[in-house]
Amino acid sequence: MPVEVSSVQCGDCGEELPENPSLPITERTPCPMCGSLGRTTKVSFHETSATKSKLGAKGRHVCGGKPFVEEVSGDDLHMENCRWMKLTRVIDREKNLYQESVVDPTTGEVVHECKEPLSKHQNHGNAKKRLKEKDAGG
Ligand SMILES: [Zn+2]
Repeated sequence: MPVEVSSVQCGDCGEELPENPSLPITERTPCPMCGSLGRTTKVSFHETSATKSKLGAKGRHVCGGKPFVEEVSGDDLHMENCRWMKLTRVIDREKNLYQESVVDPTTGEVVHECKEPLSKHQNHGNAKKRLKEKDAGG
């Protein structure tokens, strides 16, 4: 089971802050070092069952909201030939782009490549998404 570890840092000076990553911006306290409310959230996945690990990085606008670019790169074990492949996945929400490539590190050969609109990819069915309904008001 991979363990997800999150840490919060000041988006301005990089000071590590003992703050919950999911805390709304309205409940944040200014950074003790520089007074900034900007935050950088680092999420890393620690694979406990294997020596190989996958690292994920998410970029967020400082004002909060969904990550606009999601990039995953790391080693991916392919069951069919029991070999570790180099996996690179980019999810760009601003450009509505989903890109995935798997490269054999020993030969440099691209064994799998996928590039499509993000909206199309999410229709595949296994993309879990939590939707919050919001009152339109008025
Ligand atoms: Zn700071």
